[in-house]
Amino acid sequence: MDPLRSLILAAAGNDSIRRLVATTPGSRDVVRRFVAGETIGDAVTAVRGLAADGRYATLDYLGEDTTDADQAEHTVRTYLELLDRLHGEGLSARAEVSVKLSAVGQAFDEKLALDNAYRICAAAEQCHTTVTLDMEDHTTTDSTLGILAELRRTWPWVGAVLQSYLRRTEDDAKALAGPDSRVRLCKGAYAEPPEVAHDGADVDLAYVRCANVLLEGDGYPMFATHDPRLVSIVGERARWYGRKQGSYEYQMLYGVRPDEQRRLAADGDTVRVYVPFGEQWYGYLMRRLAERPANTAFFLRALVSRS
Ligand SMILES: Cc1cc2nc3c(=O)[nH]c(=O)nc-3n(C[C@H](O)[C@H](O)[C@H](O)COP(=O)(O)OP(=O)(O)OC[C@H]3O[C@@H](n4cnc5c(N)ncnc54)[C@H](O)[C@@H]3O)c2cc1C
Repeated sequence: MDPLRSLILAAAGNDSIRRLVATTPGSRDVVRRFVAGETIGDAVTAVRGLAADGRYATLDYLGEDTTDADQAEHTVRTYLELLDRLHGEGLSARAEVSVKLSAVGQAFDEKLALDNAYRICAAAEQCHTTVTLDMEDHTTTDSTLGILAELRRTWPWVGAVLQSYLRRTEDDAKALAGPDSRVRLCKGAYAEPPEVAHDGADVDLAYVRCANVLLEGDGYPMFATHDPRLVSIVGERARWYGRKQGSYEYQMLYGVRPDEQRRLAADGDTVRVYVPFGEQWYGYLMRRLAERPANTAFFLRALVSRS
């Protein structure tokens, strides 16, 4: 692994560095670039800001790999309160929620994770919005797709995420390309072994193959990538398949390529921004920095300048 990446990932587990980042004024601004804030109010404010220039949101309450039922319950209640607030403030047409099943119990009780996800989906329906189940490392793929299938029996609109780096994904895309389905296609963010995952340019080639499958199908594809080449290929392929704008969407992370997000939205495309919020922002921020050295330089500059 790249030494800078290993250093940042090591910092992700270091509490003193977390405190430094949380309290240094300059770094707080950088945190705010990638994370909406710690509270539901912060998340709602971010949605309003995105809506002002035509963007949509999917909100992620940060926290994963929950190991006890109380923590899972706290996560569920936060989502329920968030959905209620969005509805109350007239923003539910602008924002849905993204849920990591590991945050609601998947690692220790799959049935509890299903029940918890069920409660969030029921609330989302009442608030006239939707839920997408984030995809985590490959050991959870079957479980997550199983829970998705169960939820879709009641709510066909529950969204799935497929990762083009997994060798299995083209088959999963074919299985999920039917009517009513909502599928987010991303490259994949976890360190996976070569037996299960493509590497390098093969991930991009697989992305295009899966995009073709989803665009040719009858569902609603959601293309999550910041990669300019893929954004442009997706646009071309969408036109080739006769897809109208609005019958698919682009998704990007909060704070990443915001000008491109606005450009696509101004061109008439649907753009949804993945907005993370919550007390557990530190691990998320470190992963974003590890992904891209340019972000790290930007962050370190902010950390040492201005006190
Ligand atoms: C909305 C959304 C939801 C996601 N959900 C999941 C999920 O559920 N499960 C999962 O495993 N992964 C998820 N991911 C993460 C995803 O799998 C990738 O790890 C991440 O998006 C990086 O891949 P990329 O396609 O953006 O391109 P990369 O291969 O990282 O980058 C390609 C090119 O994109 C441009 N670019 C990338 N980052 C930046 C930046 N910060 N600033 C400027 N240009 C940049 C550069 O030109 C770069 O060369 C999600 C990503 C998004 C956007």
